[in-house]
Amino acid sequence: MIEKRQFYINGTWVDPVEANDHAVIDPSNEEACAVISLGGQGDTDAAVAAAKSAFPAWMATPVEDRIALVEKLLAIYKARSEDMAQAISLEMGAPIDMARVQQVGAGLGHTSSILRAAKNLEFIRPLGPHAPDDRIIHEAVGVCALITPWNWPMNQITLKVIAALVAGCTMILKPSEESPLSALLFAEMIDEAGFPAGVFNLLNGDGVGTGSQLTAHADVDMVSFTGSTRAGILISKSAADTLKRVSLELGGKGANIVFDDADEKAVKRGVLRCMNNSGQSCNAPTRMLVQRGNYDAAVEIAAATATAITVGSSHDEGRHIGPVVNEAQFNKIQALIQVGIDEGARLVAGGTGRPAGMNRGFYVQPTVFADVNNDMEIARTEVFGPVLVIIPFDTEADGIRIANDTPYGLTNYVQTTDGAKGNRVASQLRSGMVELNGTSRGAGAPFGGMKQSGNGREGGVWGIEDFLEVKSVSGWTAE
Ligand code: NAD
Repeated sequence: MIEKRQFYINGTWVDPVEANDHAVIDPSNEEACAVISLGGQGDTDAAVAAAKSAFPAWMATPVEDRIALVEKLLAIYKARSEDMAQAISLEMGAPIDMARVQQVGAGLGHTSSILRAAKNLEFIRPLGPHAPDDRIIHEAVGVCALITPWNWPMNQITLKVIAALVAGCTMILKPSEESPLSALLFAEMIDEAGFPAGVFNLLNGDGVGTGSQLTAHADVDMVSFTGSTRAGILISKSAADTLKRVSLELGGKGANIVFDDADEKAVKRGVLRCMNNSGQSCNAPTRMLVQRGNYDAAVEIAAATATAITVGSSHDEGRHIGPVVNEAQFNKIQALIQVGIDEGARLVAGGTGRPAGMNRGFYVQPTVFADVNNDMEIARTEVFGPVLVIIPFDTEADGIRIANDTPYGLTNYVQTTDGAKGNRVASQLRSGMVELNGTSRGAGAPFGGMKQSGNGREGGVWGIEDFLEVKSVSGWTAE
């Protein structure tokens, strides 16, 4: 059993003020694999005080020096990438090969692209030739609370921590209590890289305790949060009393509009994308809208693709999908599959209950519903499991209307071989990101949503700017 009860505060590992043990469960076998401690108010106060006192010196540290430390951190991250893959796989159930490539790789990619953006970012810019004595200064917001989920642990942590570090902010990271092991390892890497004491602090805790304490704390200037829309609303309310800046990356219910003229791999690609990470991605294309002319064939391909996906332990190598993260998620997904059946959607793959032959571990059958209409609960609620709904549509206008008819607006997808149509539809979709024909976003592209998917933009230059204040100075003397 791994025992990791300490927090990283002010450059050193410290015991919690009061013991409050929390078991981390391996979702592949439902056994406790680690014990951590959940923090209390005393721990939160100590971490915030450390970040506050480290802030003036870190903000004043030349950006080149901040970048040099992050580059050192990146080298350590690369050297310990196998430890990181093992930690993520154990705590949240990503199959080990997928954790190595995608989960660990996401952290590498974001760190590299934020570093590249930081090197090109003009922290002091002229306003324009019409005002030669004006300067616009971009300076660190201050002490930041970074609150992250469990589904892509290093993806979320690097997007926030690396951007905040290069911006000159100091921080308290509170990872999900479901996935603390990867974050603890990340804190060890920060320690090894030699950041000044107090710049980065790590607190474990739950949302009700540590999370709420951070969002309400008078000495925290900004909250950067990734997680559910439910928690995003609570955090916004809690942060309102002290008027903190709040950056939110929340849930999604992405549409994947498959036109009659889509390429032949479009449906299969969409199903695999939905099921990746066992469906636990905020940007998963979970509503497949299929134009009527191709509908029956698409349903058949989708069912066959989902049925062919194998489900297995995160500890086994191979291309299967793993369990979902915990019992609560497992039960929620099972209940929503039953809701889909009760609503009259046509089940064409999967269903309730574990895959055949599995009776322990939070394993869910890759499930596909056809003949769904967009008013059904299964089309409106974020399932956060390997569950796809297929909705027929007739015209281009119909497809766009159904895609936009959701409280969310994170990522939508379009499949068509008609380039002009793809561009036209992308411009009308109300989401922070649109992916055409399976083309992934380039490194450093902004990640974030509209509507109830949040307001932040992470990654690249936009991710750094989230952590910067804009100061306008007039009467500047050119030196
Ligand atoms: P969650 O909202 O339950 O928890 C996320 C984090 O917030 C955890 O660290 C948790 O302890 C903390 N938290 C919970 N309640 C809080 C509160 N009241 N105050 C402060 N902190 C609180 O979400 P989850 O189950 O860990 O993650 C899944 C959700 O995250 C999904 O809805 C998914 O779509 C979303 N997500 C969004 C993005 C994005 O970039 N838009 C990325 C990944 C995940």
